[in-house]
Amino acid sequence: MQKILDNEITFLTGVGPKKAELLTEELGIKTYKDLLFYFPFRYIDRSRFYNISDLNKDLPYIQIKGRFTHFELSSIGKGKKKLTGYFSDETGVVEVVWFQSISWIQNSIKKSEQYVLFGKPKSFGSRINIVHPDIEEYNKWQAKLVNALYPQYNTTEKLKNAYLNSKAIRKLLDTLLKKVKGQVYETLPKYIREKYKLMGLEECLFEIHFPTGIKELNNAQYRIKFEELFYIQLNLIQAKMRRKESSTGFLFDRSNDKLVKECFFQKIPFDLTNAQTRVLKEIRHDLMSGKQMNRLLQGDVGSGKTLVALLTALIAIDNGYQACIMAPTEILAQQHFRSISKFLDGLEVTCDLLTGSIKKRERTRIHEMLVLGELNLLIGTHALIEDTVEFKNLGMVVIDEQHRFGVEQRAKLWKKNILPPHVLIMTATPIPRTLAMTLYGDLDVSVIDELPPGRTKIITKHFKDKDRLRVFGFVKKQIALGRQVYVVFPLITESENMDYKDLEDGVEGYSRAFPIPEYQISVLHGQMKPDQKEFSMNHFEKGNSNIMIATTVIEVGVDVPNATVMIIESAERFGLSQLHQLRGRVGRGSEQSYCLLMTGETLSENAYNRVLCMVNTTDGFEIAETDLKLRGPGDLEGKQQSGFTFDLKMANLSQDGQLLQYVKDIANQILETDPELQKPDNHVMAAQIREMNKNKIDFGKIS
Ligand code: ADP
Ligand code: MG
Repeated sequence: MQKILDNEITFLTGVGPKKAELLTEELGIKTYKDLLFYFPFRYIDRSRFYNISDLNKDLPYIQIKGRFTHFELSSIGKGKKKLTGYFSDETGVVEVVWFQSISWIQNSIKKSEQYVLFGKPKSFGSRINIVHPDIEEYNKWQAKLVNALYPQYNTTEKLKNAYLNSKAIRKLLDTLLKKVKGQVYETLPKYIREKYKLMGLEECLFEIHFPTGIKELNNAQYRIKFEELFYIQLNLIQAKMRRKESSTGFLFDRSNDKLVKECFFQKIPFDLTNAQTRVLKEIRHDLMSGKQMNRLLQGDVGSGKTLVALLTALIAIDNGYQACIMAPTEILAQQHFRSISKFLDGLEVTCDLLTGSIKKRERTRIHEMLVLGELNLLIGTHALIEDTVEFKNLGMVVIDEQHRFGVEQRAKLWKKNILPPHVLIMTATPIPRTLAMTLYGDLDVSVIDELPPGRTKIITKHFKDKDRLRVFGFVKKQIALGRQVYVVFPLITESENMDYKDLEDGVEGYSRAFPIPEYQISVLHGQMKPDQKEFSMNHFEKGNSNIMIATTVIEVGVDVPNATVMIIESAERFGLSQLHQLRGRVGRGSEQSYCLLMTGETLSENAYNRVLCMVNTTDGFEIAETDLKLRGPGDLEGKQQSGFTFDLKMANLSQDGQLLQYVKDIANQILETDPELQKPDNHVMAAQIREMNKNKIDFGKIS
């Protein structure tokens, strides 16, 4: 039944091999089905007329009504001709131009008749004209006004050159819809469609491409959105249920607590926050369940995730297992190693650092200790999951800043022991709820939604380059108070020298304003050798320099409580989540901290909104929501992070949060009574999910 939709697009009348190839290359359309699901990006309301006097070149396709007053035929060389018609309504006159079908136009257009023109106004010198518009007699147009909503399809230059513009695609869809009529396979069970009042799929496709009215179109769009989100949820929830059922994990026991208690009572100089305590309880619960833990820990910068990671690792070590903590960058790994070592000082636990720059001999030693089980805790970068690294008994893996770890890297960990180790993934990038539900639906989620006490709110201000002297004056005052300052320059690409150039100029500027010996400046960037980086970091951490000028290498993890000012240069070039991360480098001590966003004179609307958002709030979740709205969900990092890929053609995660929650509940209800979707009524859904998972990386198989 489905078969006809799987037909290759080249079988469609009007699509030859050449066009088929272009459609595939440019739009990913291979089959009938792909074309049917190539939705218009907008609709033009054809019941509305523009005044000719209001036309300008920035308008999209528009519609005007009027009469032709006269025509002019001119030659444009090489035997080619151009026909210009003067079309007017009560408000003005516009030129309408033809290069083809000239005699047909001359013969058929009557000056006495009213016409409706539909086209895109363009600028021609200082005038506006419309080239090759659609023309219809007003009387005839009125008779078939039903199609008031006219779809517009995205196309590319290449497609347009091959005569596949929006109108041509519409025509193809017209042909295709007629051809598949009565043969579109329904992908939602009847009882669901009835219960939730959803339009049938075939009707939807007709309505979306050839709307019969706004209400019908809305209903059709709703059904498609519903279905897209519903299947994502159904899939995720089912995967999670299966994982919970099958994934045996190491069983840890509270009565083994030794290091955890010692560290907690002797080494940690403060009380845990309520949020930290709650999260540890959730983790404990997983570890004592006999199932493998797969938990995502979300917590804003500075919320104290490292401590949670450490205590979690110690639980594993208390139970006779090894643990590792992985960070995305060398600097962050070193940072973790240093701060964790402090908390472990004097305890009976062995801890080492393994990164790409650790020397061969040291590396070999670490490898040997790991295999023998003499090393309890290993901290490092992904060097840590190289195939050559063998553990005696790995029971716990903590991954920090998860958004930089790919699915495959995670999968490598699964092979390190007879059972997969417990996994705790930590991220400081707050993810909006809607997105977390979709991206990480197969993980359990914990949230640290509270900062340690005594933190003052970071004051954020926006400055333009012309305010620089004032900013420097302020920085000098802070330094006089004994505080330290970060200055961050944008990193364009890691491989290019460009960012280095920006940084160099910046360093020069700052060195002039803050001269030696009164001031000491440290520099840190991606092209430095690891030991240089470490030296520079140490220098600043120890308070030997006042200013640290860096590229975004310091984005994650650096912890200097005495630093109270974060200056972000060319702030307009940073994304919101990055700005937020950077700001989190200050405000770690008890002193009032500041984040100063430096930008050029004029900002794009989007950049302005990012800066405004930073000035207005320090709440990571609020920032994440704004980020999602400003960027749209299209280019979210790590779309495929959960191992599921999804491609939303209609639903929009930044707008359809409510619907997402709604369908999630429905999916839950269905799976509660029929977890494997075996009831005849549910077979359709099982088939859809199989289809969705055809290309999925299967965690079940990896583990
Ligand atoms: P994150 O990794 O979540 O950004 P960190 O774990 O680096 O945050 O913690 C930030 C700072 O707060 C560290 O200096 C840490 O020692 C401190 N800290 C963590 N938990 C607490 C707490 N409960 N009370 C006081 N300070 C804390
Ligand atoms: Mg951290």
